[in-house]
Amino acid sequence: MSNLKIGSSCNHCFFDDGMGSDAPTVEFELTDGNFYPWTCSRGHENHLILANKRFELLLEIGLRAARDGYPREFVVAFAGALERFYEFALRVLMQAESVDAAVRFRNFNALWKQVRKHSERQMGAFQAIWLNSFDQQPAMLDPNDVSFRNNVVHNGLIPSKADAIAFCQAAYDAIFDNGSVLLDKRRRAVEWVGHVANFEAGREAVERKKIITTITLVTPFSLILAPELQVRANIAQLVG
Ligand SMILES: [Zn+2]
Repeated sequence: MSNLKIGSSCNHCFFDDGMGSDAPTVEFELTDGNFYPWTCSRGHENHLILANKRFELLLEIGLRAARDGYPREFVVAFAGALERFYEFALRVLMQAESVDAAVRFRNFNALWKQVRKHSERQMGAFQAIWLNSFDQQPAMLDPNDVSFRNNVVHNGLIPSKADAIAFCQAAYDAIFDNGSVLLDKRRRAVEWVGHVANFEAGREAVERKKIITTITLVTPFSLILAPELQVRANIAQLVG
């Protein structure tokens, strides 16, 4: 599999010392944190923050698994992406009226610790707060898709490529449809949650007054465009 890697070069060497493309570079394997500190071969500290949201990364990982012929891992990654999207959407909805974003962000972290291992509780919280915010149900997986996902994730079912694509399109569609509503009705909170997530990821460096660099991996799944510019991905076409 072509692993998802994060590449960067030393900003000090690149800009301050005018080395341009001769500046020392680094390549990281993706980790669970979004913070990638490193020291270049000439001794400069760099503090790199990956700005992609977790669900975007999981969708990209799933796509790569599908292309490499692993339909089960494809389904597991997309199912995980949908759950991480619920988490993101909840953060956005609970952020909306806040004047103290960092406190809210940490309060949410404390809440999330309690439901982290209980996806049904996460989904219940998501549905209730979504309904309360928009007076309509969010887009969700239908019962057949849920049953298929559980068979793959919990029972070790190895799905056909066609079944995997059908499930992953449905999971992606739920993210896309709900994401479009968030962008349309809560755009500022979507942006704000991104800013605070970056700040929190690099807090240790922020507190030491270090210069932070953010990097965003380009994927077909980034929630960065205006709603009218969002294009629904055709998962079968992307898998090829
Ligand atoms: Zn350097």
